Order: sequence, then C-alpha cells, then structure tokens
Amino acid sequence: MKINLISDTVTKPTVGMLEAMMTAEVGDDVFKADPSVNALEEKVAKLFGMEAALFFPSGTMTNQTAIKLHTQPGEQLICDKYAHIYNYEGGGVSFNSGVSCKLVDGERGMMKAEQVEQAINPPDFYHSPLTKLVCIENTTNKGGGACWDFEELKRIKTVCDSNGLNYHLDGARIWNALVAKNEAAKDYGALFDSISVCLSKGLGCPVGSVLVGDKKLIDDALRVRKVLGGGMRQAGFLAAAGIYALDNHIERLVDDHNRAKEIGEVLSGLDFIKKVEPIETNIIIFELDESKLSSELFLSKLEENGISIIGMGQGKLRIVTHLNYTKDMHSVFLEVLQKIV
Ligand SMILES: *Cc1c(COP(=O)(O)O)cnc(C)c1O
Repeated sequence: MKINLISDTVTKPTVGMLEAMMTAEVGDDVFKADPSVNALEEKVAKLFGMEAALFFPSGTMTNQTAIKLHTQPGEQLICDKYAHIYNYEGGGVSFNSGVSCKLVDGERGMMKAEQVEQAINPPDFYHSPLTKLVCIENTTNKGGGACWDFEELKRIKTVCDSNGLNYHLDGARIWNALVAKNEAAKDYGALFDSISVCLSKGLGCPVGSVLVGDKKLIDDALRVRKVLGGGMRQAGFLAAAGIYALDNHIERLVDDHNRAKEIGEVLSGLDFIKKVEPIETNIIIFELDESKLSSELFLSKLEENGISIIGMGQGKLRIVTHLNYTKDMHSVFLEVLQKIV
C-alpha cells in the first residue's frame, strides 16, 4: 500500500468525478463558449456572493492575475513572510507585475491589523514604493493550515479602506477554513476585492483554480489570463470536475481534518518528536528531536513502509491529509508511526 502524504495536490479523480468529466458538455472557452466552464464560474461567483468569476489552470496564475490587476509596476504589496505569493510563485510578483513585497512577521502566516498598518509606506513619501495591496492567505500553507480569525480580517479591511488599498485573498485552501470554522463563503466575498480558490487541493480535482471579484475585475482578468497563456479551449472537462467537487467534496474535508488531528496526537506522544504545531485543518507541521532520530532516518523508515511525507526546510516536516488518504491508510500509518523507534 502506497500512502502519499506530501500534499493534498496528489489526489486523483474519483469515479464520480471522472463520470462528470466524461459526460461534460464542452465548447471553446477562449470564445467563452464552454457551457461547463460558464456554469462553474457562475457557481463559484454565487457561492461567494460576488459578481463574476474566471476559471484558471493554476492557483499561481489566479494570484498573479489578481496582483497584476491591483497594482502598477514599482508599487508594493503587503503580505506575511510565509505567503505563497512571496515564497512559492517563482518570483512572479516581480516578474509579472514589477511589484515588491513588504513582508510582515506574523504568527503562523497570519498578520495583525496593526502590523499591516505599520507596513504601509506614507503615500506622499515618494522615495518609497507606493503601497497598493494587502494579500492574505487562508488557510496558511507554510503556517501549517492555520485559519484566520475573521474579526482580524475585518480589522485589516478597515486599514485597507482608510488607506485606499486593495484586499486580495489567496484562498487556495479556503474550503478547509470554511469547514473548520463553520464560516460562510459570502462573508469572505463581502470583505475582499478578489479571491482566488483552488479546486486541485482539498477538493480533489486534477486541475483548476477560480478567481472571483466584481465584473470589471473579471473582465480585465480575461486579458491578463490570455497574456499569461491561461486561455484554454475545451476546459469544460476540467470545470465539470470542479462542479462535481463543489457539490461532493467540501463537507468531507472534516474527515481530513479529523485524521490530521489524530496523526498529530500520535506524533505528540512519540519520544523522538520535539514539537507538533497546532493542527486546525489538514496540514501537520512538526519537528524531530534530531539527537534521538534524524529526519533522514525517519523519512527513510517511512519510505520503507510505502509512506511519503515531505521536508519543509529548517528541520520541519510536513504531512497533508486528503481525499485519497483513506481510513485504511490512516490505520496503517498510525500503526507504522507507533512502531518507529
Ligand atoms: C497551492 C497553493 C497555491 C496555488 O498553487 P498552484 O500549484 O499554482 O495551483 C496558491 N496559494 C497557496 C497558499 C497554495 O497552497
């Protein structure tokens, strides 16, 4: 039995999802003539209570498009030091938009409104880049799947409003936050100028992200997506997977979260584990006591049992639960963990 826990992006479509894909009605989406893509975009826009949405091949491209639309070259955005847009999008912020990032030293990827306020450059001080945008990530990836306090997001919105800043949410794993905190997508739609969501993470689609915003933003996004090479033709096969996932794979995220918590409990009880970060959703970040067991040896012992997890650098390891991590795999994994000495 192979158990792959390196990321929730490793999932393969379920039978139900494949059936939805195979029977999808499609057209040429570059001409906006793919009924399945149009239906997905309408569905996601409605879910967040926003005017419009646009289907993209990746979450990186949705974020990059939003940043491009909210900024001009030379300007600056504010994000946490752990932000995906800063760490894991290949420097796209500078490559695509000519924008710099002012990094905030938050907690597990989450900033406080006061920190955001302090990070804003005075707009009349022309020596500094003009601050234009605040980017939030929920759940936080490098922060270990942590969920924001919605009240803090509202306070940051107030800071944005009083300083004329746009407000973007990288919601690659927003579904996990909504389920874990029992929140409504519409509340997020009411707060942010743009939201990017991934279908290819916890929801288990092979490909796909969606950018949501007002009609003007999404009209403009169409051109940026084209420039970035993200205009796809019969993309309805992929959109059908997205529609299926939204209907069938959101509520089940609870299982991923519960399994992650159980893994965390077992890890915490092991002698060679130094620290397990708090587990709120499907991501577990932990550190070994290297004097008792090295990360290399731990990883290779897991590999011997067909189990893959991933290193995050600085001695941290990561486990991510997902749609294809079954109850049986869970039992096997917990057993293997308890046998490692
Ligand atoms: C995965 C992820 C993205 C987008 O990644 P793609 O691989 O380009 O789809 C964006 N933000 C966060 C926080 C992510 O975890």
